[in-house]
Amino acid sequence: MSDTPELKYTPLEEISEIHATLRKSFKAGKLRSIEDRKTQILQLAYLIQDNYERFKASFASDLGRPTLETALQLDSTISDCKIAYDRVEKWARTEKAPFSMNFAALRPVIRKEPKGVVLSISPFNYPVWLALGPMIGAIAAGNCFVLKPSELSPATSGLLAELIPKYLDSDVVRVVLGAVPETTKLLELPWDHILYTGSGRVAKIVCAAAAQTLSPVSLELGGKSPVVIDPKCDLKTAAKRIMWGKCVNAGQTCVAPDYILVPEQSEQTVIDALKEAHKEFYPSAPDMSSDFSHIVNKSHFNRLKNLLDKTSGTIELGGQTDESKLFIAPTIVKGVKGGDSLMSEELFGPILPVVPVKDVDAAIEFINSNDHPLTLYVFSQDSAFKNKVFDNTQSGSAIANDTLLHCATDGLPFGGIGASGSGYHTRKYTFDMFTHLRSSIDSPSWLVIDMALGSRYPPYTVRTFFL
Ligand code: NAD
Repeated sequence: MSDTPELKYTPLEEISEIHATLRKSFKAGKLRSIEDRKTQILQLAYLIQDNYERFKASFASDLGRPTLETALQLDSTISDCKIAYDRVEKWARTEKAPFSMNFAALRPVIRKEPKGVVLSISPFNYPVWLALGPMIGAIAAGNCFVLKPSELSPATSGLLAELIPKYLDSDVVRVVLGAVPETTKLLELPWDHILYTGSGRVAKIVCAAAAQTLSPVSLELGGKSPVVIDPKCDLKTAAKRIMWGKCVNAGQTCVAPDYILVPEQSEQTVIDALKEAHKEFYPSAPDMSSDFSHIVNKSHFNRLKNLLDKTSGTIELGGQTDESKLFIAPTIVKGVKGGDSLMSEELFGPILPVVPVKDVDAAIEFINSNDHPLTLYVFSQDSAFKNKVFDNTQSGSAIANDTLLHCATDGLPFGGIGASGSGYHTRKYTFDMFTHLRSSIDSPSWLVIDMALGSRYPPYTVRTFFL
């Protein structure tokens, strides 16, 4: 673990000035042209490409992230830039309303307009993808954009704050560095949209502040994403995919499998398969492996250790911790019950509780007695089993036989429901989030229009037009 770099926070008095500068730019029509938006998006791709090695180092410093995981995040952000660059004309094109005999003469269209000056507050765990993904979509939609990256990933947030003014136009994109005071100051200002990605606890603070300025908010939150296992599934593959989803970034992924629901009689078989997958991934101990991240800071380390210390389940794998390295081993806990410490909050770490249930109906009941999760995973080869679970529950996404990959799948929206969030992002959906659909008609002054719609005018007589 390298030394944590000091972040130089943005002075509070500068925050209103930044907001005013961007407001002025927006009014002046900066980023109105698609070409200007594309230039900024291209610059963003160069920003990552030119500084690839520096990002690798910053990820290693913030989270001890393995090189391949970092590369995947950087490459998928570059790919998001390419997608937006190639498709922005299509996304931004004015749309004709569906044809209607009654209204066609009014030439109804939907104009895709930027919302204005928007704010994105991002978390520590995917410090490039979740900081720059919203930026790409917001710029593509023609907005001016303020990014408030996480203070918990100081190396990457500091690097973004250094590079963004070098690559992008500071009249349209700014970074505000800071923690609670700086974010509180930002939230006192009126925004044309706020995207908040983080925990439900802070989301309530964000929403309360946004209510004072009537700023619209999208929430990308987390929660406990369950895995329902059909014991007849391909257990070897399932175990590998579940363990991978749990071990990437040491479980600090919003859609990491949080816990497993399995019929009592198959609990040990599933645990044995998970242990086998773990042995394949980390033939020597994971703390010796360069393929396993550390916990972001002491406070999260202690939170997780505390939850583990209090569990009444049996540790079947792992359980080792080392505060000096912020290391928590991939840990499987057997026989966990609903009221256990490990079930009290989103784990956001490499601990995997296994909750035995009677059958699939009990699993569904268990899921429905908790908040709607961000993702619900089912491992089964049986369509009836999968459909039963999906049809009788609610969650942000419904994923069968894999983990995490839906976030990267082009064309799929990503978002929660209820306590796991509201609104959708990634690529076109991020563009949509930051776009105002402005209804427009251009009614001709032909006599025939007033004849057809004539009876709208007083004095009202008989109904002579049809709607
Ligand atoms: P967090 O809520 O602690 O912090 C997120 C952001 O909020 C940071 O920028 C932070 O500075 C700011 N913040 C913290 N306290 C604040 C306060 N009192 N007032 C105003 N702003 C404040 O979240 P985190 O620990 O960085 O990230 C983990 C959480 O994020 C998990 O719950 C995870 O599931 C969720 N998450 C969701 C998604 C998604 O797309 N749905 C993606 C990644 C993470």
